[in-house]
Amino acid sequence: MTPWLTRAILLPAHERLRGRTTLAELAALRRLEREGDGEALRSLRERKLEALLAHCQQHVPFYRERVPGGRAIDLQDFPVLERETVREQQAALCSEGFEGVRLPSSTGGSSGRPLTFWTDRVKEMRHNAQKLRFRCWFGIRPGDRQVDFWGAPIELNKSSRLRRFKDYYLLNQALCSAHDLSPERLAEYVRFLGRFRPHLVYGYPTVIARVAQYAAAHPELLRGWRPQLVVCTSEMLYPQLREIIREGLGAPVANEYGSRDGGLTAHECAEGRLHLAAEHVWVEVDEPDADGVGDLLVTNLDGRGMPFVRYRVGDRGRLSAAACSCGSPLPVLDVLEGRRNDFLVGRDGRRVHGSAANYVLREIPEVLQYRLVQREDRSIDLQVVATDGWGRRQEETVVSGLHRTLAEEVPVRIERVSAIPPSSSGKYRWVESEALES
Ligand SMILES: [Zn+2]
Repeated sequence: MTPWLTRAILLPAHERLRGRTTLAELAALRRLEREGDGEALRSLRERKLEALLAHCQQHVPFYRERVPGGRAIDLQDFPVLERETVREQQAALCSEGFEGVRLPSSTGGSSGRPLTFWTDRVKEMRHNAQKLRFRCWFGIRPGDRQVDFWGAPIELNKSSRLRRFKDYYLLNQALCSAHDLSPERLAEYVRFLGRFRPHLVYGYPTVIARVAQYAAAHPELLRGWRPQLVVCTSEMLYPQLREIIREGLGAPVANEYGSRDGGLTAHECAEGRLHLAAEHVWVEVDEPDADGVGDLLVTNLDGRGMPFVRYRVGDRGRLSAAACSCGSPLPVLDVLEGRRNDFLVGRDGRRVHGSAANYVLREIPEVLQYRLVQREDRSIDLQVVATDGWGRRQEETVVSGLHRTLAEEVPVRIERVSAIPPSSSGKYRWVESEALES
């Protein structure tokens, strides 16, 4: 479909039918952005936070019990919300007498244990409006052609087939499953990109990087196409992945950070800084270290069906006081570190960022792909996809490099495999640790 037709008629009609006003929300965000000085943004955020906290204190049983009423309350009066609490107190965390539409949702969970929770229509809609706003920064407009690389099953039932048909023919959105990345499937995907010519490519960076690598090796399949933008989400966007994608697809790469439970939290601008979706989330840093880095606590300002207040999302970061040269009034998230179990555990329980293992492995040109799992006893299982040149010498380099990284000589079991399948959620994770810090 021509993008303008989708943008002007089909998408608005689709949203109206679903009871959403996403495009009006987007326009409001853009307007606020243009005001520029940040004052309107600040007052909007404060109003929304105050209203949310009052709502929680009055209508959410979990908070009514814990937060004293009868006086002005502030965010610090609320307890930090742990994932485990969401699991155990689900009913008490839902608003009583909620008149909106509550929708069941879940996240895969980096620990492999999914979390189910309730979201609502307004929260989802504002999440989507934020996404659209950030993409506008790169010239992507609603209705532009988009391909998602996502953990979707390849076999579809009737209703999802129908949805895909509608998304593709009316809304200009296509979905490629991240579950099968065999060379045949990669060829099919790259050929499809060359034919469909999307403005935007969106999805897991590990998956898009595989597609980009294939495209770089078979440029004729793209038939001169380049996307306007690639947006990576859900996984850490490591620098070497960004580079592979940028080179293979010949487009700028932006990182999107957020989740279904906490909400869309931040997005990179063209200057490469992560800006908070400040109208949608309120972000705090819990117990910051000397560098200002600590666990991120996210309060979703729009979800009223089951509010998430001071929710420990499992990532670490630092907020910046400095403005970004791109001119956006949205605050900057300076540092973003991966999920806590992306950290390996070394001698004396010290925490070593998972990317350190990557520094060891990327020095070995024979390594094409790997997956590293640190077990509870700190020993390591490493699966490697490698070229024919792989042998004893490379294995020794890996083992000694990992020992150096962890400052400890843990057992390292290396298995050479022909392919590494993604996890059930369709994500590739390079490094996982089951070990506990002391
Ligand atoms: Zn910026």
